[in-house]
Amino acid sequence: MTFEGFETLAIHAGQEADAETGAVVVPIYQTSTYRQDGVGGLRGGYEYTRTGNPTRASLEECVAALEAGARGLAFASGMAAEDTLLRTVAGPGDHVVIPGDAYGGTFRLFAKVLQRWGVSWDAVPLSDAEAVRAAVRPETVAVWAETPTNPLLNIADIAVLADIAHEADALLVVDNTFASPYLQRPITLGADVVVHSTTKYLGGHSDVVGGALVTADPELGERVAFHQNTMGAVAGPFDAWLTLRGIKTLGVRMDRHCANAERIVEELARHPRVGQILYPGLPEHPGHKTAVDQMRAFGGMVSFRLRDGEEAALRVCDRTRVFTLAESLGGVESLIEHPGRMTHASTAGSPLEVPSDLVRISVGIESADDLVADLLQALEG
Ligand SMILES: *Cc1c(COP(=O)(O)O)cnc(C)c1O
Repeated sequence: MTFEGFETLAIHAGQEADAETGAVVVPIYQTSTYRQDGVGGLRGGYEYTRTGNPTRASLEECVAALEAGARGLAFASGMAAEDTLLRTVAGPGDHVVIPGDAYGGTFRLFAKVLQRWGVSWDAVPLSDAEAVRAAVRPETVAVWAETPTNPLLNIADIAVLADIAHEADALLVVDNTFASPYLQRPITLGADVVVHSTTKYLGGHSDVVGGALVTADPELGERVAFHQNTMGAVAGPFDAWLTLRGIKTLGVRMDRHCANAERIVEELARHPRVGQILYPGLPEHPGHKTAVDQMRAFGGMVSFRLRDGEEAALRVCDRTRVFTLAESLGGVESLIEHPGRMTHASTAGSPLEVPSDLVRISVGIESADDLVADLLQALEG
């Protein structure tokens, strides 16, 4: 039987009941190696867990199905996925276009590590197609996109970027961590590779760190798999299992994340102490139209600025009780943070610096009334 509905794929893709026992849930194959039936007699192709593990394979197949790609690969973290991909497709002399407001860890990987190995990069605002076109050079091997971005929630047009990248014989890579495949499927819009920090919405419970890649082309998937095995930054069996378990409820969680975020945005918009609200669901957001076209809804991440400046922003972060003051995002519990002092402190003084009066919230799936009341009391302080 074939099925295509998102929630059905999330619960069943790559997750057949266990052939031997009928176990409905994919077991945690907590093993490093596999008995061979005579030299080279592998059961199901498994020989060593760095190379392949059935729990990880289930996760890889499931993520590939959700992203409408040919091949999925699971890693120890989102950064491990990024590093493995970049060392697969880029070498000395190559060039990558990255977002002007890239995720801090991605920026650091380019600026502090890959640059030393001869990979150059230019950071440009991806919402400006002409700027991206101008930054692409003959040596460009990839355009690296994020949409929505962190923490400014900028939107890039994935189909437009795919055209620009492909005209230059470069890959379009989309970090889809913020949207998740439930809200946006970049490969269906022309992207070649999707990157995830599964730590965030895919895992969804703030209990595991992981990453994933999905390629549209099976041959590129094979090359990445070679590097995954060679470099070895794989997801462990238990981490893969936790992520797979989280993914089963991705659709219903995302619906609630989005609904709660929209409700909070409405309340914040009325509040005298709140200045600009950064949320692609707002009609005045510069990327709103593109977001409407390429996303199912606008996500659970909201950033907003305080009219009274940095001290006011820090006070709000200190005063919430339901929202937990913490880095990361995408879990069932609501989190709040001050990007300038926390997740994006390393961008101070660089072109990627974020406003000091900015607060970022990851809206969880608690009761909306409690979340609203918590923010309102924090804003009164
Ligand atoms: C968290 C994050 C990453 C890095 O993932 P880790 O799992 O923390 O290594 C990459 N991109 C985005 C957009 C993220 O939010």
